Amino acid sequence: MDLKTPVAKLNFIGTAYEKRLKKLEIKTIYDLIYHFPFRYEDYSQFTLIAQSTLDQPVCLQGEILAIQNIYTKNRKHLTKAVVADSSGQIEVVWFNQPFLSKTLKAGYRVNLAGKTELFNHQKVLLSPEYEILKDKETIHTGRIVPIYPETYGISSKWLRSRIAPLLKSAILQIEDFLPQDILQKYELLALEKALCQIHFPENLTLAKKARERLAFDELFLLQLANLKRRLEWQSFKLKTPFLINQDDVLQFISSLPFNLTQAQKRCIKEILGDLEKPTPMNRLLEGDVGSGKTVVAACAVFIAFKNGFQSAFMAPTEILAEQHFNNLNQILGLLGMKIVLLTGSKKPKNKDPFDLVVGTHALISKKSSFENLSLVVIDEQHRFGVEQRALLSEKGNTPHVLTMTATPIPRTLALTLYGDLDLSVLDEMPEGRLKVKTFVVPPQKRAAAYVWIEKQIRESNFKQQAFVICPFIEESESMQTVKAATVEFEKLQKTIFPGLLLGLLHGKLKSKEKNATLERFRQQKNHILVATPVVEVGIDVPSATIIVVEGADRFGLAQLHQLRGRVGRGKIQSYCFLFSESRSYHTIKRLKAMETENSGIKLAEIDLRLRGPGEIFGAKQHGIPSLKVAALNDLELIHKTKLAASEIFQKDPLLVQNPGISDKLNTTIVQIQQPN
Ligand code: ADP
Ligand code: MG
Repeated sequence: MDLKTPVAKLNFIGTAYEKRLKKLEIKTIYDLIYHFPFRYEDYSQFTLIAQSTLDQPVCLQGEILAIQNIYTKNRKHLTKAVVADSSGQIEVVWFNQPFLSKTLKAGYRVNLAGKTELFNHQKVLLSPEYEILKDKETIHTGRIVPIYPETYGISSKWLRSRIAPLLKSAILQIEDFLPQDILQKYELLALEKALCQIHFPENLTLAKKARERLAFDELFLLQLANLKRRLEWQSFKLKTPFLINQDDVLQFISSLPFNLTQAQKRCIKEILGDLEKPTPMNRLLEGDVGSGKTVVAACAVFIAFKNGFQSAFMAPTEILAEQHFNNLNQILGLLGMKIVLLTGSKKPKNKDPFDLVVGTHALISKKSSFENLSLVVIDEQHRFGVEQRALLSEKGNTPHVLTMTATPIPRTLALTLYGDLDLSVLDEMPEGRLKVKTFVVPPQKRAAAYVWIEKQIRESNFKQQAFVICPFIEESESMQTVKAATVEFEKLQKTIFPGLLLGLLHGKLKSKEKNATLERFRQQKNHILVATPVVEVGIDVPSATIIVVEGADRFGLAQLHQLRGRVGRGKIQSYCFLFSESRSYHTIKRLKAMETENSGIKLAEIDLRLRGPGEIFGAKQHGIPSLKVAALNDLELIHKTKLAASEIFQKDPLLVQNPGISDKLNTTIVQIQQPN
């Protein structure tokens, strides 16, 4: 038995528990050991019974004088005990646990941890944790007690009882993968000690030290993995580096119907700089929705074409692929390029050679052949895993890769997460864009907002349209999300906007239906499009000027910002209404940032401070690793781990002298980086 052993092999875990644990993403013993408490209850000090005060958590130690089960008039089951210590006695009450009178008997010495409350006008200890005192060390009482993320059927108590013996058993053989000098230099606890102390700390200082050590591990490994990947990437050599002819660049730029922003020019320059090098580009282009990433990528595609190479442009959904296909055709078709579309449902009609293929995943899953693919552009990078990226690269010979994202990742975060990529940021919007006027709408103003929206649509003579985004229920587009959207759609159509025509868009529609729905909206045959949060990823309908987000408090600010980017694309003033039922001052204050702040990166930074990175982006959806302990907003730790990682890497890039680290990288980083 070792850390990789599935939990089901442990003799106390049957299939029922296996399933429940899966909900907590615990599959192996490793996962169980690495399921960390998110807080502690401090029961390390015993209180004398006579000194216990109402409504305070206390831990008492005493002897059971009497215990019995009682049925109340309304057939509830109570277990009542009287417990005494040197200072006095107290009644203890548990509900619906009749078996307790079998476990706990008069004469036993026990620890009890819980709250004293008034029950039938009497001070009692209500439903406390209990632990019989034998020679064993206590784990639920009389110490600092860990409280874990739980799920139905898996309580913190259950987890404690399972994790404690595992930590004690020698079978685990937790060896420290960090070398001694790093441990010393950064004043880190040894791994085994850290694991023991994070679960069952002797004191809160040690709990903190334990957390620091484990957070160090996460960021250290992440950064080391990036260094390794960067080195791997740089070991690829191109057969023929591009020649950049300034005339070609000028031809491209002058063919555009607008002037490039300074930021676009800078990013193009950075990209062209990469294309000239003998090693393939691996760059991330980050820019708010509407900042004009497509045209920057198109310039690189054009230069590839001028060098006699093919490019591929990959989008996360069919809708987006088609949109890109049409847009790129307009820009690049004019310049003599042959462009084809390849998605699950659309394939090029003939086998004629092409210069650019635009498509979805189908690009990699189907047997598409590329003669001389040399540039791959990936839009909305978070939808693709590292592996898919590699697969597509295999189709050409180590092509240049440009990844684009509208996820406003603050720079430090981007450099930590994607340290293997070079970063270009489009931090400027094209001129003449109007700010989207944004309002947080409390429940009592909802009706008025609906009236205003209908009026706005009618007064524009149905030229303006609206999106209604349904609440974000789960990470993935589950049936539950779809159901909620359908209910919302019917309610709006029947009772709120009976005089308007509404459409419904969600991820479970067949792609034909999706396209038809979107096309109806685009042609203004529908006035309002009700949608699940899928529209987040870049639908472009310039006549849509209003967006309503239901349950706005469930979204991160960066996500809201991306949703808001669906409107304000044309010349007309646009509006965003954030509906929230929340009465929490902090929640409303957080949402209000949307009213004044207009930069995605700034909003992301606010959320990074307030809620941590996982919350900001809907971590999984955006491929942001869900680190268990490390705070990605902890700049000092990021800095320290970066230093440590590059120290190791410079001395030993292939990690031959550090097999422990190498092992750990292979087993954990893959999981972190690849949530799908
Ligand atoms: P995103 O960064 O969200 O992918 P797009 O590339 O789709 O943004 O660009 C949004 C819109 O802005 C497109 O209609 C595009 O033609 C237009 N656009 C891009 N750059 C400029 C510019 N410099 N000036 C004016 N419009 C621009
Ligand atoms: Mg885009």
